[in-house]
This record gives sequence, C-alpha cells and structure tokens, in this order.
Amino acid sequence: MDCLRQRLANPASSHRLGQQARRRLESARQAIAGAVNARLDLHPPDRVLLTSGATEANHLALRGMAALRPGAIVVSSIEHPSVRGCADQLAESGREVRVVRCDSRGVIDLGHLEELLAPPVAVVSLMLANNETGVVQPIGQAARLCRATSAPLHCDAVQGIGKLDVDFRQLDVDAMTFNAHKLHGPVGIGALVLRAGVQVAPLMRGGGQQLGTRPGTESVALAVGFAAALELWQQTPADHRRRLAVLRDELEACLATDADAVVVGGAAARVPHTLNVAFPGINRQELLLALDVAGIACSTGSACASGSSEPSPVLLAMGLAEPIVEGAIRLSLGLDTTEEEVRQAARQIVSVVARLRR
Ligand code: PLP
Repeated sequence: MDCLRQRLANPASSHRLGQQARRRLESARQAIAGAVNARLDLHPPDRVLLTSGATEANHLALRGMAALRPGAIVVSSIEHPSVRGCADQLAESGREVRVVRCDSRGVIDLGHLEELLAPPVAVVSLMLANNETGVVQPIGQAARLCRATSAPLHCDAVQGIGKLDVDFRQLDVDAMTFNAHKLHGPVGIGALVLRAGVQVAPLMRGGGQQLGTRPGTESVALAVGFAAALELWQQTPADHRRRLAVLRDELEACLATDADAVVVGGAAARVPHTLNVAFPGINRQELLLALDVAGIACSTGSACASGSSEPSPVLLAMGLAEPIVEGAIRLSLGLDTTEEEVRQAARQIVSVVARLRR
C-alpha cells in the first residue's frame, strides 16, 4: 500500500526517482530469493525472474528451456493445468511429450520417471505438492534421477511455499515456480527462480527488463507485497502447520464418520491445508452449489478448470473409481481458519450431503 500511495517511478528509468524505485524492487527481489534460499550472492548468481503469476512462470520455464534444448518434455499426469496446457502447446508444435504416471495415492511413479528420462530430454516439470489433493511429491528423489541423465528439472512449488520448508538449493532443481497469492500476498505476481547458469529463452521480446528474459515494466508494489507476504509467513509461529493439519484431520474424520466420505490422497504425505473428500453417490457440481448456498466455498478440481463439468484429470490419473471421481470436492483451510469454523463447516456439509442423498 505504501508503494501504491507513493506512486513510485518506473524502475527502469535512469533518473533519481527511477533509481529509488529500482532499489525497492531489487531489495524485494532479494527478500523473495532469500525466503526460498535462492543464492543471488553467487558468481554467477541464481536468478529470480518476476512474472505475472505462476502460470506465466511455468510457461517461461517449459517453453523457455525447450526453445534452447532439443528433446522430449517430461511432465506428470497430475500437473496443474498451466503445465499440462504448456506441454500440450509444445506437443502441437511437434515436441514429444512424455507423461509420468502416478499411483492411487496420488504420488508420481519414480520408476516410470526413470524410464521416461531416456535421452534426449529438453526439460522435466514436476510439482512439489498437488493443488487438488495436497499430496507432496518426491522431488528430491526425482532431482537425483534427473541429475543422473543431465535432464533439467523444473518444479512448480506453488502449493508448497509456506506450508512446507522449501529450500531451492536443497531441492536441487534447476528452476522453480511460485506465486504471491497462495500466501495471502497480492494477485498478479509470481516468480521463476533459475539456478546459476540455467538459461531460458524469453516468451516475449521487445524490452530489456530482467535482462530481456522477461521484458515489461516490473511492478514494484506487487514485488514488495510478494516479499512482505513471504516475510509474514516466515514470522508465523512454527506450529501453524501442525494446527492446520489437526483441523484438517478433524474435518476429514468427521466427514468420514458422519457422511461416509472417502479421503482422497489420505494414504500419502500431504500439505496441511488441503483436503479432498469424495461422497460416493453424490454429484460434485450439485454438492458445490448446495454448499455454496449453505455458505461453504469448495471447489471441484482446480480453480483454473472451475466451471468445467469434466471430471478431475488428477483423480482420473490416480485411477480412482467413478463414484469417487464423480463425488469429490476440495476444501482448503487458511491461516486464520478457526476450530469453531471447521466444526460448523463439518456440521453443514454432513447435513447437505444427507439431504442430497435423500
Ligand atoms: N500451479 C499450481 C500448483 C497452482 O495451484 C496454481 C494456482 O492455483 C498455479 C500454478 C497458477 O498460478 P497463477 O494463478 O499465479 O497463475
């Protein structure tokens, strides 16, 4: 808000006001890098490219790396639509796309990944945690497999930041995407972190900003807001994740006992704020509408695919039975969700489900 009120100058301008804006932008970039342990102090440094969000960052990673390297694109069957869509676009332009299977828990199959890494591979893209099930993926092990074949690995870490300890250097990936709005930060900004020396071709040309790799005037206010959101998460008491997981488990247990819900992905490690529950025999769209009337905001599939009545590609990839896929919804808890709100939501959901079943 401070930056918006001050109406900072264009950070690419050479005058003093421009330079003042540039200093705020670069210190925000450093804070964003520091929050995930990207090393801007190395020679050459890691890089943090600011984008309009995670969708653009994912495209910049995949298309940007594919433009510089021959070979196949490897993605998993449970990636976010922004990665799957990008892979489809590359396939349309003649690239081979290989899709890694996942198991019924929603975890990618590392054995299958190893098979699909047969060279040449231009880029591999795997997510850190799934946006529909919350299931955490074995990125460390995937990175070791990719290193062994020199395949560059990009990780969409949007759902993990703030909910897991995410250390870019320790994950040992070549590129990583995240955004601000999943952390209660402003909508409209994301970042692509690139390991020192990793190159991507720009998606757009016509400006020298961010060394020409992501041209266009940077928004100082959004960058500062992004850094502030990350800082607030870092200051949040360490037990917030445990608190969220306890609330999530309580909600799931109640829905399983009182509404015969099946927990999707419950057999795997998950981020603490996401739950995906299926009510066999119920249509998910009808349930979404009835819950909305009751004051509960849930989703079916990814928000980027909402409005679509198609079954979730993620749950289909997990090979789940039709009544589960047809009746699954996703609920998310926020940092400020209270125990009372969760209990109230559980009561409402149980009653709406009972009514729909009747
Ligand atoms: N990747 C994942 C895993 C997401 O959950 C989302 C948003 O929901 C995105 C990418 C897209 O993010 P953005 O809305 O910033 O483009």
